[in-house]
Amino acid sequence: MTDCIFCKIAAKQIPSQAIYEDEDVLAFKDINPAAPVHFLIIPKQHVATLSQCDASHTAILGKMLSLVPKLAQEQGCGVAVDAAGAAAGGYKTLINSGPDGGQEVYHLHLHVIGGPHPWRGQRSPL
Ligand code: AMP
Ligand code: ZN
Repeated sequence: MTDCIFCKIAAKQIPSQAIYEDEDVLAFKDINPAAPVHFLIIPKQHVATLSQCDASHTAILGKMLSLVPKLAQEQGCGVAVDAAGAAAGGYKTLINSGPDGGQEVYHLHLHVIGGPHPWRGQRSPL
């Protein structure tokens, strides 16, 4: 997609603060973070929205989601559970879909939003 900002980021035509990359996906920091940690995971191949996904997208969706724990840990918002079962840390994992879902960029992306509170509220990804 020539006019897609995230395709351009994936192609390195627009700079980003990348935190992970492989042949299928790119993860980079959100330019307008809603919390101390806020990054996006995108497929390199253009898919406009989750609503256009079907069973043929199972592998890429699984790859995007299964990267979250490792990248969240590396970015400092992983979840720790102690021996007594008390949990600390954490993040939200979010895909906005369509105008009513708050989607602004029409290239599939998974938000990971976390870190210590307070977070900025009243914002579409939250
Ligand atoms: P959504 O509302 O789910 O479509 O979210 C789009 C997200 O992309 C927003 O959180 C924006 O801050 C973020 N964003 C837009 N342009 C860029 C960019 N050039 N680099 C990093 N993040 C971006
Ligand atoms: Zn795209």
